[in-house]
Amino acid sequence: MLRLLGADYVLDTTFGADMTVMEEAHEFLQRFESGNKLPIMTSCCPAWVKFVEIFYPKYIKNLSSARSPISMQGSLIKTYFAKKIGQDPENIVSVAVTPCTAKKAEIKKFGDVDFVIPIRELAKWFKEKGLSYDALENSQYDSIMGTGSGAGVIFGTSGGVTEAVLRTANFMLTGKDLENLEIKVVRNLDGFVEAEVELAGKTISIASVSGTINARKLFEEIEKGKQYDLVEVMACLGGCMAGGGQPINVRLSHEQTRIARSKALYQLDEKSSVRYSYKNPDVKAVYEEFLKDFGSPLLHTSYQDRSEILG
Ligand code: SF4
Repeated sequence: MLRLLGADYVLDTTFGADMTVMEEAHEFLQRFESGNKLPIMTSCCPAWVKFVEIFYPKYIKNLSSARSPISMQGSLIKTYFAKKIGQDPENIVSVAVTPCTAKKAEIKKFGDVDFVIPIRELAKWFKEKGLSYDALENSQYDSIMGTGSGAGVIFGTSGGVTEAVLRTANFMLTGKDLENLEIKVVRNLDGFVEAEVELAGKTISIASVSGTINARKLFEEIEKGKQYDLVEVMACLGGCMAGGGQPINVRLSHEQTRIARSKALYQLDEKSSVRYSYKNPDVKAVYEEFLKDFGSPLLHTSYQDRSEILG
């Protein structure tokens, strides 16, 4: 579909999710081992980040500095990818297809991604062009940054970022693959899940939260003294699979849709030949050939107190 609409290259954002997992797992372990700025709070949801910046700025330091998957992929497209295809980054127009409308605001912060098209708008554009879904043939992603792991796939459902990060953090701690890689206790369809997970002999206290109403509940818990090490928050109830730019299923209720989409993502993970972000060959290539180490400014960001908006 994207090629029919004019795309020269079609890359997989799941690669970007794997990059976010790598950087966030590394940052989490640094903080966990030093005890600094805990709990680490995920930062891949721009609506959640803005919520913290406006309503809870004293927790800005807790946000992971890791950029979101589309933002990591965006900066790598204009650097690593541009070099690989021998193009001046100025000549590349990068478009992210997202389940999310808030990403339209996020890309203005970095300037690497030129446009965001949520899924519903993409479908509308395709129909307006008079193109037919029936005429579409199966095709593959392009080869550079075109591979994603099962861990990257489950980023789309609440609890998935935590599970993906824990799989990689375990490898960073032990050099081994996690035996029971399905960490079901952090899977979260209800909006607020708390769990303790044993990783390399250490107990990690986790909250997985979705829906901003539950984010307020999270801060109430923290302010009552509850201690977590790793907190994942998605502004949309259920995570990105229920994002504001997603198709609306007229046959199912919101809840049924969330359950079906979440199940589909976990099934994709189960069927994936690569289920750990650190085993994604495209991720390995970008570190080996280009980044060399964790913490590149291309993949990280900072945040600002926006509470003045409240007057
Ligand atoms: S949870 Fe919702 S607002 Fe946040 S990134 Fe996903 S789709 Fe966007």
